[in-house]
Amino acid sequence: FDNIDGVIWFDGKLVPWKEANVHVLTHGLHYASCVFEGERAYGGRVFKSTAHSARLKASANILDFEIPYSVAEIDAAKQLVINSNGLPNAYLRPIAWRGSEMMGVSAPDNTIHLAIAAWTWPSYFDPAERLKGIRIDLAEYRRPDPRTIPALAKASGLYMICTISKHKAERKGYADAMMLDWEGRVAECTGANIFFVRDGKLHTPIADCFLPGITRAAVIELAKRRGIEVVERRIMPKELDGFTECFITGSAAEVTPVSEIAAWKFTPGAISEQLMRDYAAEVQPKGKQAAA
Ligand code: PMP
Repeated sequence: FDNIDGVIWFDGKLVPWKEANVHVLTHGLHYASCVFEGERAYGGRVFKSTAHSARLKASANILDFEIPYSVAEIDAAKQLVINSNGLPNAYLRPIAWRGSEMMGVSAPDNTIHLAIAAWTWPSYFDPAERLKGIRIDLAEYRRPDPRTIPALAKASGLYMICTISKHKAERKGYADAMMLDWEGRVAECTGANIFFVRDGKLHTPIADCFLPGITRAAVIELAKRRGIEVVERRIMPKELDGFTECFITGSAAEVTPVSEIAAWKFTPGAISEQLMRDYAAEVQPKGKQAAA
């Protein structure tokens, strides 16, 4: 992925893709002092750009560092990246990390870097295709107790168990893995939040030990606009039998229906389809903003 034509915004400048490199003694690489975002642009506009930029800065603060750019500057840099690469529909990856001046766990004065890349990551909004649903494995690892990690930061270190779980699931033929939390309750997937449907209502776990997704919030809002009740609560795996539909949400995943989680079966139906369509409409630039 390091050999693509295009430009990456790196510490305030656009640099050729192949030259956006870091040193092997980068603190972020050794000690995971690194936070990132995943977002999408549609029709030339980054969906919920400011919310993502604000979360990036908040994640950095949780990891005890300050990104030396404002939310507005990060928003402008993202726009520059998609414009400069000619990618009106793209996935964006802003990432911030501690640099390489000092080696050791403590490196409070190391430079904080920020880079923003964007590339094409197709969004499959063909509803018929999506409504088949994806198959999900049950992960071996659990989301840790929030007293043991900074659970609400989108921090690279927290993705170690996600990569292990997703690789294992993929080797077994599944698309993703669902993780329980430290108390055995349903939590989320490796890069997406999860929702269930029963009796016309949405049920989703309380986001107290995993990332409260920006897509999750958008979908909750869309559901409420449709008069669909949303219940945020603790969900135990044994309850999964009682749900008829299931879908996952995330900037990359958008709204993706689920047909299976291990031995539990779901039938993607009217509510998943409605929210999938509402989300597809919601992400499109509106009014004057659409000009870019
Ligand atoms: N959980 C995890 C672990 C994720 O990586 C993501 C994707 N960023 C999400 C949830 C969904 O977050 P969002 O809707 O903000 O993309």
